[in-house]
Amino acid sequence: MASNMYAVKCLCCGRSAFEDFYYKTDEQYTFCMRCGYYYAKTIKKSTMDTIEYKEEKIGGHGIFILENKDGSREKVSLNRSLTNEQLKELKNALRGENVNGEKSYLVTYENGIFTILFGTRLKISICRLKNIVKRCLRSMGLLTMTL
Ligand SMILES: [Zn+2]
Repeated sequence: MASNMYAVKCLCCGRSAFEDFYYKTDEQYTFCMRCGYYYAKTIKKSTMDTIEYKEEKIGGHGIFILENKDGSREKVSLNRSLTNEQLKELKNALRGENVNGEKSYLVTYENGIFTILFGTRLKISICRLKNIVKRCLRSMGLLTMTL
């Protein structure tokens, strides 16, 4: 089916989202890889004269991407804030043997703030932080070789 795909500003978080617009039917899908916002406008019912659409909006509270070593992917848009239990479950899933940790991530989006709970970017920022702490300690003469 004929469609145009382009980047739009996410209505939820303001970052760039993908939009897939089917110009023949006026159907539309929007998905944000940052906050997980998903919007779909699809035909519910159509007659010769009228078209009735249905709209669906989900996500916007973050995104969970789990990529396996074989390249298969699981993508979940978080529809509401995670409970501690759900969080534990997702983190356990990410520690699985077949998971590609470099390509998997879990990011929540609450009140305009992104929190990376799992993902390479988080590891990098922790590394940087450790280096900064080390540098500070060294400058104060407090760094020992065991640190
Ligand atoms: Zn977004």
